[in-house]
Amino acid sequence: MYNETSVQEFRGSLRGSLFEPHDKGYDDARKVYNGMISKRPRMIAQCADVADVLRSVNFARENKILLAVRGGGHNAGGLGICDAGLVIDLSKMKYTRVDPQAKTVVAGGGCTLGDIDHATHVFGLATPSGIFSTTGVGGLTLVGGLGYLTRKYGLAIDNLLSVDMVLADGSFVSANSNQNQDLYWAVRGGGGNFGVVTAFTLKLHPVSTVYAGPMLYEMSEAEDVMNWYQKLIKNAPDDLYGFFAFLVVPPSPPFPEDLHLKKLCGVIWSYTGPLDKAEEIFKPIRAFRKPALDFVGPLPHPVLQSMFDSFYPKGLQWYWRSDFVNELNEEAISLHIKFGNTLPSNLSTMHLYPVNGFASRVKKEDTAWSFRDATWSMVMAGIDPDPANNEKISLWAKQYWESLHPYSAGGAYLNFIGDEGEDRVKASYGDNYERLVSIKNKYDPDNLFRVNQNIKPGVKAQISSGSAEP
Ligand SMILES: Cc1cc2nc3c(=O)[nH]c(=O)nc-3n(C[C@H](O)[C@H](O)[C@H](O)COP(=O)(O)OP(=O)(O)OC[C@H]3O[C@@H](n4cnc5c(N)ncnc54)[C@H](O)[C@@H]3O)c2cc1C
Repeated sequence: MYNETSVQEFRGSLRGSLFEPHDKGYDDARKVYNGMISKRPRMIAQCADVADVLRSVNFARENKILLAVRGGGHNAGGLGICDAGLVIDLSKMKYTRVDPQAKTVVAGGGCTLGDIDHATHVFGLATPSGIFSTTGVGGLTLVGGLGYLTRKYGLAIDNLLSVDMVLADGSFVSANSNQNQDLYWAVRGGGGNFGVVTAFTLKLHPVSTVYAGPMLYEMSEAEDVMNWYQKLIKNAPDDLYGFFAFLVVPPSPPFPEDLHLKKLCGVIWSYTGPLDKAEEIFKPIRAFRKPALDFVGPLPHPVLQSMFDSFYPKGLQWYWRSDFVNELNEEAISLHIKFGNTLPSNLSTMHLYPVNGFASRVKKEDTAWSFRDATWSMVMAGIDPDPANNEKISLWAKQYWESLHPYSAGGAYLNFIGDEGEDRVKASYGDNYERLVSIKNKYDPDNLFRVNQNIKPGVKAQISSGSAEP
């Protein structure tokens, strides 16, 4: 076990900062995005470089101290932090390097999606990620990564070319299609279970100005909108992406005053095809019926990517539930409308993120992410600034989820759930789970990396049997 001397030696060995509870900055360093999470680690190592990460992994392993790894700190279940243990905080490891010829970006393990978009947009390039620029590339990418480019270019993991990682035994490796292929397969969906990713190499695509934004309708039209949207998105060209939402219109410009605080339903669209074709693509969409609000038009891609940031600042209370969904039948739609009409706060919402298009054409066994045949990842999020409303927003999300769960496809996108137990993790990996366990056995048999949607190591005998090949 560590003592004061070994902690001070550890502190002295880091180029970044070590925060203990008595240190100035500790309270800031332990805050994560979800204000509902308040954990008190024994130490937070704000790493400056790979050497700091390596020393921190070794310190945790040698001293048998619980270890958490924090990328962007966005995980709603608080998996980027822990009580009493050591947190490896990557938030200062934010470098990016774009190769516009090869169309790749190398991003430090602590980058946010906005850091990457900023670096790539000047070259007219982008990589698939998520819909809030403040989310960490680490947690989002390692578990899948759903966003506006999913239908055209796949999940974030479908564009992950290579990772640099510090493993549980303190070794530093790269994993890609030529090196450590088993690990490369596992990190594309298996989360932070296998080590600390210090750098991600991601594929870029020509995406610059998109034709995008929200198109919203009255709640009284929700049934028609959901039926129409379902048919449309299942048959849409890959260039057209749109996620369905129930939401409350924010009481501020640029929203028209007569819509302020009104519950609406609709689709947040993004079209990435040729801009001169966009109006034509949207003609039948606009002809479906007159929306209450139509903010769809040309936008720089990073503007779309950060459109919701200011409405959802760090520190709000969040409670989420989620499932994969194949189909919206009549009963499911009527339950959705019931809960959409009772959104418990102005920021609470329900989203249906498409997983079809390009993402569905990647084979299940090609990456650890199993639900390639789901149509959507559904998330119901109770969100509010006031902790006094926690019970209300959580209860709404729980009851909503419980009502819709019988109509779901089985598992969930593990980035949208909290601690829902081992069976839920297994169900979400499906047939890929066993292979993940054997790779966990090889690279982290003692489960050093367990503050995550944990893939528990199996019987140790499997380690020497070499059963972890992909
Ligand atoms: C407002 C908001 C919007 C979101 N939007 C989307 C979206 O559009 N699409 C989508 O797919 N998801 C989205 N998510 C979910 C998001 O992907 C997860 O919350 C994810 O865990 C966030 O990653 P992070 O690095 O910020 O989180 P953290 O809390 O820092 O970490 C989460 C988990 O990832 C592990 N981890 C993080 N970085 C590393 C690393 N470098 N190496 C090893 N392990 C690491 C951590 O150990 C932890 O287990 C959103 C979440 C929020 C709160």
